[in-house]
Amino acid sequence: MEEALCKSTAATRSWCKSLPKSELHAHLSGCISKEKIREILRRPENEKLRAKATSLFSPRTSLNLKECFELFPIIHEVINSPAVLREVVFSVLDDFAADNVIYVELRTTPRSSDAFTPQLYISTVLEAVDSYHKEHPNGLLCRVLVSISRHLPVENAREIMKVTEAIMKEIAGTTRADLIVGLELSGNPHRGSWDDFKPIFEDSRRRLHLPISLHFGEVLDDKEANAMLDFRPSRLGHAVVLSDAVATRMITEERNIGVEVCISSNLMTESVTSLQEHPVVTKLLGSRHPFSLCTDDPGILDTTLSEEYARLSECVALSRERVSSIALKGLQLSFCRDENVLESLYRTFFRKLQQACCGENATECTLANIIDRRIPAPQPLRS
Ligand SMILES: [Zn+2]
Repeated sequence: MEEALCKSTAATRSWCKSLPKSELHAHLSGCISKEKIREILRRPENEKLRAKATSLFSPRTSLNLKECFELFPIIHEVINSPAVLREVVFSVLDDFAADNVIYVELRTTPRSSDAFTPQLYISTVLEAVDSYHKEHPNGLLCRVLVSISRHLPVENAREIMKVTEAIMKEIAGTTRADLIVGLELSGNPHRGSWDDFKPIFEDSRRRLHLPISLHFGEVLDDKEANAMLDFRPSRLGHAVVLSDAVATRMITEERNIGVEVCISSNLMTESVTSLQEHPVVTKLLGSRHPFSLCTDDPGILDTTLSEEYARLSECVALSRERVSSIALKGLQLSFCRDENVLESLYRTFFRKLQQACCGENATECTLANIIDRRIPAPQPLRS
């Protein structure tokens, strides 16, 4: 994988780290750093699990694809109480904040296990995010997307939507009321059918008025891809394995549907063999189709959002102006529709961009001025 990625220089990495960024496609379980998981595994109550997981979480530089997928069930076992779930939410948000991410949408599938009902799982995540905000009043802002996994039974999806609706009613009027900003479909793309999940998403869109993101184009399937575009989701995740016909439809007819681009993840899963062949390079940049750079599973992939920016900018020699515009697009594509919150985020973005470009005390900053500073209206809901 190393060779397929454009190597980034220290200078580019440092510039990309200083850039204020928004993360729109990050699965909570895949965001937990291996260091954090090792720390939890060392606890006496995890002795049995530790034996099973040791080789996968040893401090090595990279894992192969099969090993990556073996990590998820272990991570789910590691999160075996509301207290641990809360702890990992804090740890993940700290990691994003350290990478100068100012806004993150965490997506997560509510679990049913010995430790959790879906209701308890979602409530715990919301409580953790709310507490994080209270402890870091000027820190990054987090919002939550409730995930449906296509490899789980359709009945499970129905239950999760019901629980989400009940929780949203319950938290109305509290500081947690605005934390759930969207729904998403993810999971193993070889399993489950969009036809089965579509009615559930249609019903939820009508009842909950939440924007929807779909994992899209992870395997070549024109019929499903077209059916997903017909549904008019608010965003698409990946869009990496597409026929020419579907790619053309997406970038010509569906210009309002932003794409969540996850370069390292697509290379790890071998959806593309090199970054030069990735649709972000071959299609999205040239057509100016709206997209946001994302990490997918930074803990598992050993990447950061800055690293994703650095790789793309080195691969196609992007100017700093263009990279800054891409970072701004990340914010514009967010599912947050609270105008006051968005305005505050834009202010933070431009203040940090100014610092990144010209330092704290600069009076003139041409780079930060090139970017269109008009604050756009929140993303409309698709119907
Ligand atoms: Zn994903």
